[in-house]
Amino acid sequence: MADDFPRTQREFDARFGTDEACRAYLVQLRWPEGFRCPKCGHAKAWPVRDVRFQCAACGRQTSVTAGTVFQDTRTPLTQWFRAMWLVTSQKTGTSARTLHQLLGLGSYQTAWVWLHKLRRAMCGPDGTASRAASKWTRRSSAPSKRAYGAAAR
Ligand SMILES: [Zn+2]
Repeated sequence: MADDFPRTQREFDARFGTDEACRAYLVQLRWPEGFRCPKCGHAKAWPVRDVRFQCAACGRQTSVTAGTVFQDTRTPLTQWFRAMWLVTSQKTGTSARTLHQLLGLGSYQTAWVWLHKLRRAMCGPDGTASRAASKWTRRSSAPSKRAYGAAAR
């Protein structure tokens, strides 16, 4: 699934220009066979707000981003995706300063937090973007929000 992650800047821009596109990608990774309610197994759900789905049968709400680095973020998914793209597409890696400048982040500290969150969630610097993407979006058990305090918001 993650193998169709873009390989060039042009592909990336065409693919992930909107939050909807980013969300759709996460949904595909999360439910390759289509939505399944984690509570009752029902296959039909309604989209609720940005990243949530509500089961049509039992009403349970499920977030596409639960357990990923995006959990509880208020930052648009497009910015997260662009940050990941920067980190994964440059062989030498990217610096917090670069992220800060290119993404127009609020502060250098925010950029630093993003960079480290992303690096921690991804594979090594030799990994391709597609491999990185699959790791990056995997569900992790560790709650990452507290570790860096509120600066990531
Ligand atoms: Zn359900």
